[in-house]
Amino acid sequence: MAWGDHRFPSYLAFERMPEIVQAAAVKVEPLSTFLRAEETALQKHMADEEAWSVANLDWYPPLPPALAFRANPSHGDAARKLAFLMALRIAPNAPLSLYFQPDIRKPRPPGQPLPHGSVNTLPLSAGVAFSYFPLNPGQMIDALSVLATATEEPDTGLDINLWSDSRSEWGKALGFGPQPFGNPSLAFSSQAPFHMGFYHESPLIYMAADFTRHTLPLHRQHQFTKLSMLAFRTGHPYWGWRFAGMALHYLQDLTQPFHASLSPGNSAIELIGINTLAMLGLSKWKDDMVILLSNRHLALEHYQTAWLRRNASLQLDGELEVALHSMARDSSYPAWSDAYVRDVVSAQAATRGAALVRAMLDSVPATYVNDPQFDFGPKADAIALNDEVEKTASAASRQGLEATVTELLGDFGAHSRNALRGILRSTPQH
Ligand SMILES: [Zn+2]
Repeated sequence: MAWGDHRFPSYLAFERMPEIVQAAAVKVEPLSTFLRAEETALQKHMADEEAWSVANLDWYPPLPPALAFRANPSHGDAARKLAFLMALRIAPNAPLSLYFQPDIRKPRPPGQPLPHGSVNTLPLSAGVAFSYFPLNPGQMIDALSVLATATEEPDTGLDINLWSDSRSEWGKALGFGPQPFGNPSLAFSSQAPFHMGFYHESPLIYMAADFTRHTLPLHRQHQFTKLSMLAFRTGHPYWGWRFAGMALHYLQDLTQPFHASLSPGNSAIELIGINTLAMLGLSKWKDDMVILLSNRHLALEHYQTAWLRRNASLQLDGELEVALHSMARDSSYPAWSDAYVRDVVSAQAATRGAALVRAMLDSVPATYVNDPQFDFGPKADAIALNDEVEKTASAASRQGLEATVTELLGDFGAHSRNALRGILRSTPQH
């Protein structure tokens, strides 16, 4: 996860941006049509992308040469799609079907939603209310709906079981090697190294735990950014907006301090000390820290999602909405570049971690964020966390938490728009 459902904040972050307000509606196009039309361009494009990744990423297991995408006009649609997904190294069972998820503040669209599995390959968890509505080839749709829907797409199973020790056939072929951290038998944990990046830890951490460098969100973000530019340039604006949204997902994940640093609120010395004790057989502190980290991560997402959902149901325009709409800080950041996500987005999120943890400890009942006996994960859906904060926290500490979360979503909006401007500027029609 990271920000619960990315679509909620994305609709807000983009809906007043002039480039989106003025964007022409686009014609819905199946992936197979795009791939058939552009396979020759894609062959060169994907070879260039591979060369970029090898040259620029701090850690990158190269693409096995057999998986390189090659134009083949005799291929049928299914074979070409499979070759494309394997060359991108995303789960080859990803449907990439034609659908959209509506803005939760708008009335529900007419008609029946699609079955969960026709969009999302992850099991449907209780209490999660996704609603995938079908699109038909040739139908017109607004750019915002395509973009905002796609910002959630990388959490629908694209990055699941891609490692050599994953429970999948394809993991063995993709060349990413074994899963660097997390439990390979849990499907959802297998996507973590694609959605988290610890780029701003102390050198001591990288020396003590090299696996913390083994993450790939910058790779994914760059892959989909470049595909978006190619699609816009070659006259496939539906895929231009959709790939742009998919690229933005990875950037948005890195605005979340629990995705951008190893253990927000703990110093390198503490982490190494805890790990050293664990290696000496005293693992209690480490086990406790892992649980607390996970509980705080989930509590933040839960709190933020419930807050946006509640405001939406009341048609409220509160401080969260104002922060997501505001474009005032967008131009205060450095110009967009390939290094922006690491040097600006994740660097900022890493510096926000300690204050975030302090604000959570001050306001959220200790059971949820400071008790290693409690496992937030399985119970998350049943917890009315926001109500409990409202009831138990002092006004000052509650406001502290609200201000921190609001600031983080301000970052989410500003960086998402700056990245989109980077994509649109590079294509002739914008
Ligand atoms: Zn994610």
